[in-house]
Amino acid sequence: MEKIKIAIQKSGRLSEQSQDLLKEAGIALINGDRRLISTASNFPLEILYLRDDDIPQCVADQVADLGIVGQNVIMEKDYAVDTVLKLGFGKCRLSLAISRNEEYDSPEYFNGKKIATSYPGILGRYLESNGIKADIHEISGSVEIAPGIGLADAIFDIVSSGSTLVSNGLKEVEVIAKSEAVMVANQNLSQAKLDILDKLMFRIRSVQTARINKYILLNAPNHNLEEIIRIIPGMKSPTVMPLAEPGWSSVHSVLKENEFWEIIDKLKDLGAQGILVIPIEKMII
Ligand code: ATP
Ligand code: ZN
Repeated sequence: MEKIKIAIQKSGRLSEQSQDLLKEAGIALINGDRRLISTASNFPLEILYLRDDDIPQCVADQVADLGIVGQNVIMEKDYAVDTVLKLGFGKCRLSLAISRNEEYDSPEYFNGKKIATSYPGILGRYLESNGIKADIHEISGSVEIAPGIGLADAIFDIVSSGSTLVSNGLKEVEVIAKSEAVMVANQNLSQAKLDILDKLMFRIRSVQTARINKYILLNAPNHNLEEIIRIIPGMKSPTVMPLAEPGWSSVHSVLKENEFWEIIDKLKDLGAQGILVIPIEKMII
């Protein structure tokens, strides 16, 4: 039977969450330990472990059919791959930063400056479209130390919390792009592989939907039941069952986690008791 091959990062910021996502999608690996390749025992899938920078080219060349990689890597070069799913982890931004002591008011600041980066493609396009002439200095790691050692006036790099910038005496002044992990696919997959991809995406979406939703159970006094039901949206409408104790009902529903915090006080004011919020493992909608 045909198998689909997915490339994920071997070790680094995306590897753990990439593996967890596949695991939560119900994929069990025969040789679980990260080698070069492992095979799923219960799904037509093989996993290839690569450096993140190699993933898009491998997918374009169909060494792998699919890949999980940061959008920052995809944006840097024009790879012939399709982005089929955003995965919601590995979130970061690509920003320009300068010494914290410098004054800054607009991107014009960068005219005539030397900028160190590992992303010359994205930076070059940004500078060109804004009519800024700067000197791009490509380096492959530890970009953030370049200004401190006099190698550059500014940097263009990945930022997530910003703490690396702060500890190097830098401040973020322009966000040029945002990035998260995505699933990319080869553009010429066979019908058999497209069918497997559909099944895999269906599973991943169910995991993603489940992550943001919670199952809620509560006991409601019958005289406020209607109002309680009105403030709990639910997938269709909540399930309501009578409790053994007269005058009370049990209400079950599904909520977005952030909605829960907005309505909890209202529920308590309406006399709801025994409120339980439970994680959902999979959710098919
Ligand atoms: P490899 O050894 O696979 O080449 P790497 O060192 O190039 O690894 P990592 O640092 O593991 O890469 O980052 C992988 C991806 O994680 C980045 O390309 C980016 O999409 C994402 N990411 C999220 N937050 C950050 C961050 N604060 N710094 C760097 N990358 C981040
Ligand atoms: Zn890398």
